[in-house]
Amino acid sequence: MSMLLDVATLDARRTVARGSLAPLAQGLRAELRPVLEGAIEIPRDKALLSRTGGRCPNDGTLLRFDPLDARHVCLVCGSEVRGELHDRFRPYWYQLWLAERVLHAAVLGVLLDDRECIDAAWRVLNGYAEHYLEYPNRDNVLGPSRPFFSTYLESIWLLQLVLAVDLLEAGASRAGQDGARVRERVVEPSVALIASYDEGISNRQVWNDAAMLAAGALLDDDRLMDRAVGGTSGLRVLLSRALLADGSWYEGENYHLFAHRGLWYAVTMAERLGRMADDALVHRFDDGFAAPFRTLLPDLTYPSRRDSQYAVSVRQPRFAESCELGLARRDDPRLLGMLARLYDTTAPAGDTGRRASTADVERNLPATGLTRADLSWRALLFARETLPPLQPHPLESDLLPAQGFGIIRRDGGRCFVGLDYGRSGGGHGHPDRLNLLLSDGDARWFDDPGTGSYVDESLHWYRSTLAHTAPLIDGRSQPRVDGELEAFEDRGSAGWMRARAELAPGCVVHRSIVVAEDYLVDSVEWESNDVHEIALPFHGVDVVAPTGAALAGEPAAIDGGAGSEDGFGFLSETTRLFPETVPVPLASSATAEGRAGLRGWLMTSAPASWWKAVTPGPPGRPSQSLVLVRSTARRGSIRSVWSWRSAVRSAEFDRDAFIVRRADGSAHTHRSNDGQWSIEPTGGEIVELGSDVAGVVLHEPVARRELAEPAQHDRSLSIPFRSSLGADHYRASEESWEAASRPAAVVHIDATADRLVVRVEVPRAERRFIAIDAANPFDNDPAAIHGDGIQLYIDVGERASGWLLVPIAGSTTVARRTAEGWSDALPVEATWEQTGDGYRLVAAVTLPSGVAEVGVDVLVNEITPGRSRRRGQLVLSGARGEFVYLRADRHERERLLRLDLGER
Ligand SMILES: [Zn+2]
Ligand SMILES: [Zn+2]
Repeated sequence: MSMLLDVATLDARRTVARGSLAPLAQGLRAELRPVLEGAIEIPRDKALLSRTGGRCPNDGTLLRFDPLDARHVCLVCGSEVRGELHDRFRPYWYQLWLAERVLHAAVLGVLLDDRECIDAAWRVLNGYAEHYLEYPNRDNVLGPSRPFFSTYLESIWLLQLVLAVDLLEAGASRAGQDGARVRERVVEPSVALIASYDEGISNRQVWNDAAMLAAGALLDDDRLMDRAVGGTSGLRVLLSRALLADGSWYEGENYHLFAHRGLWYAVTMAERLGRMADDALVHRFDDGFAAPFRTLLPDLTYPSRRDSQYAVSVRQPRFAESCELGLARRDDPRLLGMLARLYDTTAPAGDTGRRASTADVERNLPATGLTRADLSWRALLFARETLPPLQPHPLESDLLPAQGFGIIRRDGGRCFVGLDYGRSGGGHGHPDRLNLLLSDGDARWFDDPGTGSYVDESLHWYRSTLAHTAPLIDGRSQPRVDGELEAFEDRGSAGWMRARAELAPGCVVHRSIVVAEDYLVDSVEWESNDVHEIALPFHGVDVVAPTGAALAGEPAAIDGGAGSEDGFGFLSETTRLFPETVPVPLASSATAEGRAGLRGWLMTSAPASWWKAVTPGPPGRPSQSLVLVRSTARRGSIRSVWSWRSAVRSAEFDRDAFIVRRADGSAHTHRSNDGQWSIEPTGGEIVELGSDVAGVVLHEPVARRELAEPAQHDRSLSIPFRSSLGADHYRASEESWEAASRPAAVVHIDATADRLVVRVEVPRAERRFIAIDAANPFDNDPAAIHGDGIQLYIDVGERASGWLLVPIAGSTTVARRTAEGWSDALPVEATWEQTGDGYRLVAAVTLPSGVAEVGVDVLVNEITPGRSRRRGQLVLSGARGEFVYLRADRHERERLLRLDLGER
């Protein structure tokens, strides 16, 4: 059987592959040449993720991957780089490329009755059966894996191989032994490892589910298939909770595209296996083909919301492929309209990159013109034999209510104004609620910069509110909250969107964006019981003097949150500005020749301070200027008018009105009251914009991953306190507590008159202590978490401190660093000594007087010879079933054990 198509359909596709899609089949076969000729090798080393591996040291962009040329070349600056970390990153791409080539060979072999392709597919599969178990399952970054460093990558890889075996066997070319060997030596051990790691409601779990479903079908394992479709984070749950009612994935466009490709596999297989009964969920999945096209910018790139790569163009084969796969399932004019743009024969054709494609892990390339011959094996199996006539579908104003993103478009889609207000977006979300986006053709005036590398320090900048055009509160990045829509209406000549978010307890910030034909009005208002500072960043603009020149200020240090993701640490050349006129005039700092610049007029209700700085640009782009306006009040507003086509001459602000004076001599008077907005043109009819958002789905909770039940939280514990840590306290990486030879530790806690004394006995340890400030070549985490050491967290109510404590060999001294997200406000002293095969560490924390109860947690990191990352950690508050991946020295305050100190 085939898990993608029934035998009759597979037969019919042979005709298509030799008929209307023959150019596609022949193109894929030509690119398969090196595999057919045996000019490939299965990498022997596991892929290694590091800060430098695979990226250009000059510009930080991903280096070229060429399966036939192992040199590391940057396509941006042209330089060639060398080094072990680059060499060890390459297998990541290569393994995915090779697995996809096996599937190509299987598809072409079966559709074209091509013996050479079939033999090549089995040759590589046999090679994997030989080598798969040689890759060590250790030192992973995000879940167990052998060839890779993250589980979901192994899932994508395994999925290609399983589908290849399934197709080859459906084509009945060769029976028996080879298939059995691949099942036993690759599929079974690999899927066992994938099944051991559940990533909950995540884009990565889509791939784990797809791999489990495919492997389950190949192995005839009902339990695996049941779990992949119906489990607590199976396909059905992901379709109903992570794919939202508007068909968009809760983590934003970038993850939508990645997750939806995985959903395509899982839904296609589940339908074929008779396991997909829910029509409503299938409908939502089908809407997911068109959903990401609804938010496209005028230059046909995606707004780089959240952890997206920057400015990804839709003119790449995988987007055309997604339209084709959607149309194969049902008619949708939006998809036909998008294909009309993508198959536009006047768009210049460039390199599609397909020759080096790495399965479903995308590698973005510049925009290129496309034809059906540029698609992939999926289109060969599923795309319609011929397409109906293609008509471009206009890009219009749109609202994705479940995602929480409103878009008002003008000038036939050439102008885009977005208000990104809704979901905070999970772990890949940014603190950028109420973010404003403005693009006019190719000009990105207010832009979302997305994210560069996950293992580079710049990640903190891109994950700051300051990097966006969104309000900061009290000099810090926003908390992770969801915003809510208050109004959305577009009448064509005028429209508006209004949303709110509670950015501090009791402090609600509203933002209204009113869009006329060729300018916008932005009104940020807040109200609160307490006084708060609201700051609004604008990138790529300057405050200008009446002459039009950028205003020079006085160099001055800028105050702001000290957290790395508050972003202030990334500002340079900070200057305080003293604008002389009200409203304050602003203008874009860089304007391409022959194009109108952006001009703005801004006013605050309360006194404001004005700042200017240089900030990093979007990933791979030059740095740019920032203007930050800050205003402190119990309630207040920051209001501005922005014009991008020289349509506005000036703007005036009155207590309850904005008067926009246009270049053509007319004026528009804007008024807002009681959830309405009115625009009165001189001598014209008033336009009233309303707030009717009834019927709009505003909120639909995304399931949160449940934490393992803490071991002993129900009662307050008393001192002296002693606990032996073992299986219930173990937070594992690849090995279970048993397999890790049962790590253990004993924690004693007692108190003196003013101090809490924590003693940790670790009976067996390598005593491999990594210097507290050692550089970590792999990622942003402190290197010292990957050696022996203790993490201690103390909460006394008003103050809470957390430290990573690492002994210094040859002394009794203990080095410490403040744990991420914690303070070192409480005084602590620590010493250590060697004991038998292990060590003992004693930490004394001075408590404020009168404290009767404290929260405490103690974590013990452990490492073994031959590893480069910690194997696991013991957690005093309990951690059964949890994994140590990506936690660094972060810890949740609510997990701490409560200790009753009694009378002191
Ligand atoms: Zn470069
Ligand atoms: Zn962002």
